[in-house]
Amino acid sequence: MAGRRLDGKVAVVTGAASGIGAATAVEFARRGAILALADIDELGMKETADRVAGLGAEVGTHLVDVGDEDSIYAFADGVERRWGRVDIVLNNAGVAVLGDGVTISDESLRWIVDINFWGVVHGTRAFYPILERSGGGTIANVSSVFGLLGMPCQSAYSATKFAVRGFTESVRMELRLARSSVRVMAVHPGGIRTNIARSTRIEGTGVARAGSAAANVEMFDRIARTTPEQAALAIVDGIRRGKAKVRIGADAVAMDVVQRLFPVGYQRVMPAVIRLGLRRARQ
Ligand code: NAD
Repeated sequence: MAGRRLDGKVAVVTGAASGIGAATAVEFARRGAILALADIDELGMKETADRVAGLGAEVGTHLVDVGDEDSIYAFADGVERRWGRVDIVLNNAGVAVLGDGVTISDESLRWIVDINFWGVVHGTRAFYPILERSGGGTIANVSSVFGLLGMPCQSAYSATKFAVRGFTESVRMELRLARSSVRVMAVHPGGIRTNIARSTRIEGTGVARAGSAAANVEMFDRIARTTPEQAALAIVDGIRRGKAKVRIGADAVAMDVVQRLFPVGYQRVMPAVIRLGLRRARQ
C-alpha cells in the first residue's frame, strides 16, 4: 500500500465512535477509502459516519461488541458481502481500568481482556482471510505505550496491551513465513487527548484510589499531549510504509527508549516519581 491515496480501498475501523478510531476513519475518508465502522456507541458512530459521508466517502455502520466473537464474524461477513473486499483493518476499540493488579475484581479484569485483547484477536482472525482474498492489505492492532512498559495502576490495561503486542509481533512473523500478502502492524500511542479517561473504570485499593474520577480525567487531559488527528496521521503513514511498529507522540518514544535502556531500573524510579506527584497534588 505505497500510495498516499486509498481510492476504492475498504477500511474497517473498530471503536469508530470516538477518539483515535473516529479521527482515523476521517483520515481514511479524506484519502478516498470506503469505510466500514464498528462500535457499541450507536450515536457516536453515526456522528463519525456523517463526517465521513460529508467528505464524500461511502460508509457503513455496524453495532458490534468486539469482545463478542459471533458479532465480529457477522460484521466481517457483512462487510465482505457489501463491498466485496477489505484492504485495511484498524482493531482500535479499547477500554481502560485504573487499579492495582492485586485487588482489581475478576469481573473488571475479564471485561478489559475481552475487549482489549480478544477484540483484537477476533478482529484479526475474522478479517484475515478476507484480506487474503482481496489480494493483501494491513491489519493495524492498537496496543499502547503501556504495551511496551508497565505502570502502577495499569496492571490490567498493561497486561492486555502487552498481549496485543505479543500477538501482533508473532502473527506478523507467521504471515511473513507463510509469504502472505497481509501485514500486521502494532500501534503504540502515548497520551492521546480522547474520551478514554472518561470511560475508565476506577477500582482497587491502591494509588488509583488516591484521586477522584474527575481528578483522574483532569490529570489525563493535562498529560495527554497528542491530538487524535495527529494519531490518525501516524497510523495512516505507518500503514502506507508497511511499518511493523508505530509509536505515537514524543512521550511514547521517550518511554520506549527508557524501557530499552533501563528495563529494570525504570521500575525502581517510576514509583518514586508517582509518590512525589501525589505528594505535590495533596499540597
Ligand atoms: P475513546 O474512549 O475515545 O474511544 C474508544 C472507542 O471504543 C469508543 O468509541 C467506544 O465506544 C469503543 N468501544 C469500547 N468498548 C467497545 C466494545 N466492546 N466494542 C466496540 N467498541 C467499543 O478512546 P481512544 O483513546 O480513542 O482509544 C482507542 C484505542 O487507543 C484503545 O484501544 C486505547 O486503549 C488505545 N490507546 C489510547 C491512548 C490514549 O491516550 N487515548 C493511549 C494508548 C492507547
